[in-house]
Amino acid sequence: MSQQVDTLIIGQGICGTFLSFQLEKAGVTHLVIDEARPFTASRIAAGLINPVTGRRLVTTWMIDELLVSAREAYGRLSDTLGSPFLTETSVTDFFPTAQMRLAFLDRIAEDALWLQLPADEVRWNAFFHYELGYGTISPCYLVDMQGLLNAARQRLKRKGSLLEQQFKKEELQISPDHVQYGDLRARRVIFCDGIDSCTSPWFSKLPFAPNKGEVLIVDIPGLKGLGGGENSIFKKGISLAPWQEGLYWVGSSYEWSYATETPTTAFREKTELLLKNWVKLPFKTIDHLASVRPATLERRPFVGFHPLYPQVGILNGMGTKGCSLAPYFARQLTEHITTGSPIRPDADVRRFTRLLSR
Ligand SMILES: Cc1cc2nc3c(=O)[nH]c(=O)nc-3n(C[C@H](O)[C@H](O)[C@H](O)COP(=O)(O)OP(=O)(O)OC[C@H]3O[C@@H](n4cnc5c(N)ncnc54)[C@H](O)[C@@H]3O)c2cc1C
Repeated sequence: MSQQVDTLIIGQGICGTFLSFQLEKAGVTHLVIDEARPFTASRIAAGLINPVTGRRLVTTWMIDELLVSAREAYGRLSDTLGSPFLTETSVTDFFPTAQMRLAFLDRIAEDALWLQLPADEVRWNAFFHYELGYGTISPCYLVDMQGLLNAARQRLKRKGSLLEQQFKKEELQISPDHVQYGDLRARRVIFCDGIDSCTSPWFSKLPFAPNKGEVLIVDIPGLKGLGGGENSIFKKGISLAPWQEGLYWVGSSYEWSYATETPTTAFREKTELLLKNWVKLPFKTIDHLASVRPATLERRPFVGFHPLYPQVGILNGMGTKGCSLAPYFARQLTEHITTGSPIRPDADVRRFTRLLSR
């Protein structure tokens, strides 16, 4: 029997999840197609929203708007799903080098909005080696990505709005006023398929710059519940963030060039050594994960509709910042669909009209 919806969403990572949520709020009928892959970017992300970025601790692009939108969107999603997924936290940033310490102090002198120096320099002495001191970055936010994706998936299933299968792009038929996929007919399809869009017949020409990340999942029994809350994040070159079941996420790598998308022994050995030289407590590696971030050359997302196929859309290219960018741009794309309001020009995929029209 044929089924008809307004919008087909391909992918239920953080982008597809927020798009489905926003469309539902706007009364746009939709169906999500997602094959349950265990190691997608969204599923292995730490879930950190950090207001400063890079070695020079520069304020993140659009951070004020992104934080307002993230608090609102995660709050509403939590109300709907019946569980909190966003917590306020801070990053304890142990300086790995004298230059990094200097960069932190220089940045505080310029703009102290997100950065603080501690009153108590020895606070972490029993747990970490940090000869060069530390600063804190706050407020930051931590998203429980696994919890959120699982709860949203269960809800989509209950509502009959999820098809758990692989979407075969070659089977999509595009007509001027609709798309057809097997028995499914929709007014539009929106690809939230992460790294898979790099090889898409419609979007592969976009300047994607896939970036691999590896992480270790470790157990550090002595660290549980520290720092005035279980959500504290620690950093010394690499980050140590709370993961599920009281474990810690350690990572990650940022690799523009890689021979394999799977975990490597080199990363594991290097990271375990870094951890041994940093954490004074015994730890045990429980798991080792890898995935590829859908990053872009100009570090801006890809949002909107194909210039030649206006029934084919995309919400992608979130790079290292899916947790804060996805809620904001899912809402902007939904408003664009329902009211015709514009998408930010520096995120709108039509900035690549010439490239996509070749
Ligand atoms: C190691 C690592 C750490 C990270 N840490 C953070 C962090 O702390 N904070 C932050 O903001 N960001 C972080 N990121 C980046 C973040 O994970 C990404 O920006 C974001 O998850 C991208 O989400 P997405 O929905 O676009 O893609 P994905 O998460 O890749 O989701 C795509 C979905 O589409 C599905 N799919 C694809 N093709 C098909 C098909 N043909 N048929 C059916 N289903 C399909 C996949 O199964 C998947 O569920 C991290 C990334 C990595 C790799």
